[in-house]
Amino acid sequence: MPVRKIVTVPDPRLMAKAELIQDINENICQLAADMIDTMYKAPGIGLAANQVGELVRIIVFDVYYAYAEPKDKKKAPIVVINPVIAISEGEEFKEEGCLSVPNFNLDVKRAARVQVEGIDIKGNPVKFEAEGLMARVFQHEIDHLEGKTLLEHASALKRNIYKRRTQKPRRSEE
Ligand code: ZN
Repeated sequence: MPVRKIVTVPDPRLMAKAELIQDINENICQLAADMIDTMYKAPGIGLAANQVGELVRIIVFDVYYAYAEPKDKKKAPIVVINPVIAISEGEEFKEEGCLSVPNFNLDVKRAARVQVEGIDIKGNPVKFEAEGLMARVFQHEIDHLEGKTLLEHASALKRNIYKRRTQKPRRSEE
């Protein structure tokens, strides 16, 4: 199961809306498996398909593995296809980072609790009641499927500073 390359801003695939999955075929299963490997390798606690350059609605996450003590480390990845936030409640400010926006952290306001519906890799409906970090991961990854990165939550000023910092220097401009 190959680890895929994580795309970073300003890649246009991070700004595009991912398509609903109608048929969980072999390619989708392979993509989900690759995304899991890519997430653990990074390492990260969640990944959306846009981040490996595929514009389909899949997210994967494991909010425990990265923070577990070495002796308790046990991979338990979750795949959700076509995830939708059905209910959101409360609000919480916390710092987030993103594998597709390297060297950037931002305090982001998110709902404190969410109920998410979707389907699993076998096509069965699934429902999650999430709070805390898991609620935040769901909202962050579903943002990706909508073509939104952490940068869209930043002020115009912060966004511009980041863009300028990551731009490659142009040799013709002296
Ligand atoms: Zn992200």
